[in-house]
Amino acid sequence: MMSPIQAHKKIIVNGSQQTIVDDYALIQKKDRAGSDGKNIKCPHCGSTERIFNLRWKIRQCKSCNTEVEKYAWMIDQLDTWRTPR
Ligand SMILES: [Zn+2]
Repeated sequence: MMSPIQAHKKIIVNGSQQTIVDDYALIQKKDRAGSDGKNIKCPHCGSTERIFNLRWKIRQCKSCNTEVEKYAWMIDQLDTWRTPR
């Protein structure tokens, strides 16, 4: 069995140009969903879904059906809407 991942980053390199297209890290207490929601990524299968609040402790992944504790999910780091830094 694969162990859950804790971060995921995808960078496209084109010559000297680097573009981060995907950046996920574990949910932290400071994270907020914001009014438009945020994408979270399952640490087991890597599928993403959109959440609109973080008032939950465990969420079942719609893709692999694993029950994942909140702070084991990864959240989109590129979507900084209403996330205090
Ligand atoms: Zn999953």
